[in-house]
Amino acid sequence: MRDDLQEISERLRRNERIWAVFRDIELALIGARSLAELVTVLAGRLPEQFAGIAAATLVCADPDYELSRLLARDMTPDRVTGGFVVLSRARLQALFPQPLRPCLGPGDPTSQALYFPGCHVSLRSMALVPLNLRGELLGMLCQGSADPAHFTGETATDLLEHLATVVALCVDNVLSHERLKLDGLTDALTGAANRRFFERRFADEMVRQQRHGRTLSCLLIDLDHFKRINDSQGHPMGDRVLRDVTTMLGKDLRAADLLARYGGEEFALLLPETPDTDARQIAERLRQRIASLSWTAPDGSSLSASVSIGVASLMGGKEARGRDSTWLLQQADTALYEAKRRGRNRVCVAGEDN
Ligand code: GH3
Ligand code: MG
Ligand code: MG
Repeated sequence: MRDDLQEISERLRRNERIWAVFRDIELALIGARSLAELVTVLAGRLPEQFAGIAAATLVCADPDYELSRLLARDMTPDRVTGGFVVLSRARLQALFPQPLRPCLGPGDPTSQALYFPGCHVSLRSMALVPLNLRGELLGMLCQGSADPAHFTGETATDLLEHLATVVALCVDNVLSHERLKLDGLTDALTGAANRRFFERRFADEMVRQQRHGRTLSCLLIDLDHFKRINDSQGHPMGDRVLRDVTTMLGKDLRAADLLARYGGEEFALLLPETPDTDARQIAERLRQRIASLSWTAPDGSSLSASVSIGVASLMGGKEARGRDSTWLLQQADTALYEAKRRGRNRVCVAGEDN
């Protein structure tokens, strides 16, 4: 009897300790200000604080690379570099048929390689807990143990599920926060991306270009004699022209392309995976489109506009090595200057006789 009581009170104390640690981890998760911090808490704290856990990872569907991009941006050397894994939504759905329930049981090398890449301990049991947000399967929280008895079909899952709910909310929060910040990256007059956003994306694309030898083209587009429109028809008319030109420039762009208002009456267009000959054709099409626009000015006269465009490209290959976004922009700017010099309403390509 006494032994039984002792055992019960010991179990209670153990559970209390576990709860306290879970609460601490939960608070750290809620306090995380970035996805990198969130992953660091999960991958670092869970194995650190629970002797039976050898590895923990956050596995997510990331169809638009939104999470991967955030993570790459915020990763620092003192943060855990593993711990985040991307898995297709189809694979996740196959793992968790509705209704979503955690999967606990023995580990196997295939699952280990997929869900715990970089973990060198042989995981003999695993807990895969779905991250469910408003009915959508975001991903899963994975924990692995070297002990085959640590996670079994008999293990209680309420704590694990609770933790997964907190993680799902935190991931969603981080994303919403980022999207909000992104709102500050568009230009109020035209709705196009602003220069800050352009420069950030340009830097990302440049890394891809350098690392994988991808082709990248950049157009600088400047309205010709725009000051005259403002001077003769007033600033509001100038604003209207800017808005309509933006709409025209943005038509038919691919999802990967980025149009930004680079300066007052100057736009930049980034075209990933686009070689110079295609970029020139696109630029020519845009030039013609703008030249075909017309407006009725406040004084009743008909108004038209034109643009000059400088095109610069980086093709994969040796001569592209070591180039950066500043260099490519400089090339496009020189070509734009040449287009202006040659009489405006034209396209010039960097490094060509045009
Ligand atoms: P160029 O062909 O050499 O480019 O001549 P330009 O007149 O277009 O160039 P300039 O740089 O001399 O003048 C640019 C003008 O763009 C001056 C500025 O008032 C106008 N501008 C810049 N931002 C805005 C804006 O948001 N709204 C309006 N209405 N005008 C703007
Ligand atoms: Mg101009
Ligand atoms: Mg200008």
